[in-house]
Amino acid sequence: MQSISGEEIYSLIETICSFGSRYMGTNGLAQARDYILSRLEEIGLQVKTESFSYLSYETKSVSLHVDGRRLDCEPLANAAFAKKPVTAPLAYCGVGTQEEIARLKTQGIDLTESILVSDNMRSFLAYTAAEATGALGLISVTTLQDNTIRCGSGRLDRKPGSIPSVCIGGEDGRKIIPRLRSGEHVEATLQTDGRTEWKQGQNLIGRPPNLAGPRILLSAHYDSLWNGIHAMDNAAGVATIMEVARELTRSKETGFECVLFSGEELGLWGSAGYVERHQQDLSDINAVINLDTVGSDQSKVEVGVTADIRPFCQTITEQMGVVVDCWNTPPRPGSDQRLFAERGVPSIWIANCGSDLRYHTPLDVPSIMRPERLEVTARLTFEFFKQLRTRSIQEKPRKR
Ligand SMILES: [Zn+2]
Repeated sequence: MQSISGEEIYSLIETICSFGSRYMGTNGLAQARDYILSRLEEIGLQVKTESFSYLSYETKSVSLHVDGRRLDCEPLANAAFAKKPVTAPLAYCGVGTQEEIARLKTQGIDLTESILVSDNMRSFLAYTAAEATGALGLISVTTLQDNTIRCGSGRLDRKPGSIPSVCIGGEDGRKIIPRLRSGEHVEATLQTDGRTEWKQGQNLIGRPPNLAGPRILLSAHYDSLWNGIHAMDNAAGVATIMEVARELTRSKETGFECVLFSGEELGLWGSAGYVERHQQDLSDINAVINLDTVGSDQSKVEVGVTADIRPFCQTITEQMGVVVDCWNTPPRPGSDQRLFAERGVPSIWIANCGSDLRYHTPLDVPSIMRPERLEVTARLTFEFFKQLRTRSIQEKPRKR
């Protein structure tokens, strides 16, 4: 009988969050790294780090004026820096879909002369849409009741963005959007300054000492954005993987590898580095189970899964009596399983259906986490692993 404990996961989350923000290059990230490595070692795994290169994103200053009034804002990572202020009329593009943008064009709005305003919570989708239409910039409005600002990354494809962008709070955004919808001319000035630089990041690997042959990856990213300690995204995923790994080790399971990626928030840099480094032995990876944003009091249970193993996973959740609030096939593209799925590795992303809007904000703290929900995610991870493992032992090896 497995002995996974939600309380234990909760306490690991508290420790990981106690180091502060885990933004790339920070002391908080280095402390989290050392702690995770020592814990993995303590449970009996062989640990190592694997380096990868990433493009850092360091903002010096950022400002936004709308009608001459300065608004609180945060940068959108990977957006271009506009050292010279960009002044232009605003245009509301909703979630930034092609239809919305086409609608703006039929209204005669020249997007190539506008700064777009979007309230798409997946800022990388709105940002790439704004770039594609030739807009001068993007303002990303946070979809929360108060004026809390959600940060994010404009691009997840590890390429620098071409236009400047900032994020603002919902209260400020909701004052602007109706004016734009009614056709009012609203002008804004956007300025961002900072720099990017090639640096080294580290993935953390923990393997059973007697691992040989094919393996299943249990992964989560341990980095965060700069604006908080981000318990749900993703101290929770890391803590859950650590707890599942402890239980697997206790039950003498050998066919797994824990990989705690970093550089995820800035564009899946860690998983890109892993996939590149392990090109030759990628066919030894039978599946990836990735955890990102799980276990808060507003969390739903999402299983994002590649089509090849979806019926298999559905049978498992039914057997376990776990209610899955949303299935996504393929898994949504915003986390580390993506690059494995694209290379044909059966992949699972356990997430929260985007139901908790406090991610990437300072509101994402340990007190919003719920041990009983964390335990469900952990049990699900454990069971997916166990049954995928049995299946892969029975199956012939696949060529990829
Ligand atoms: Zn995340």
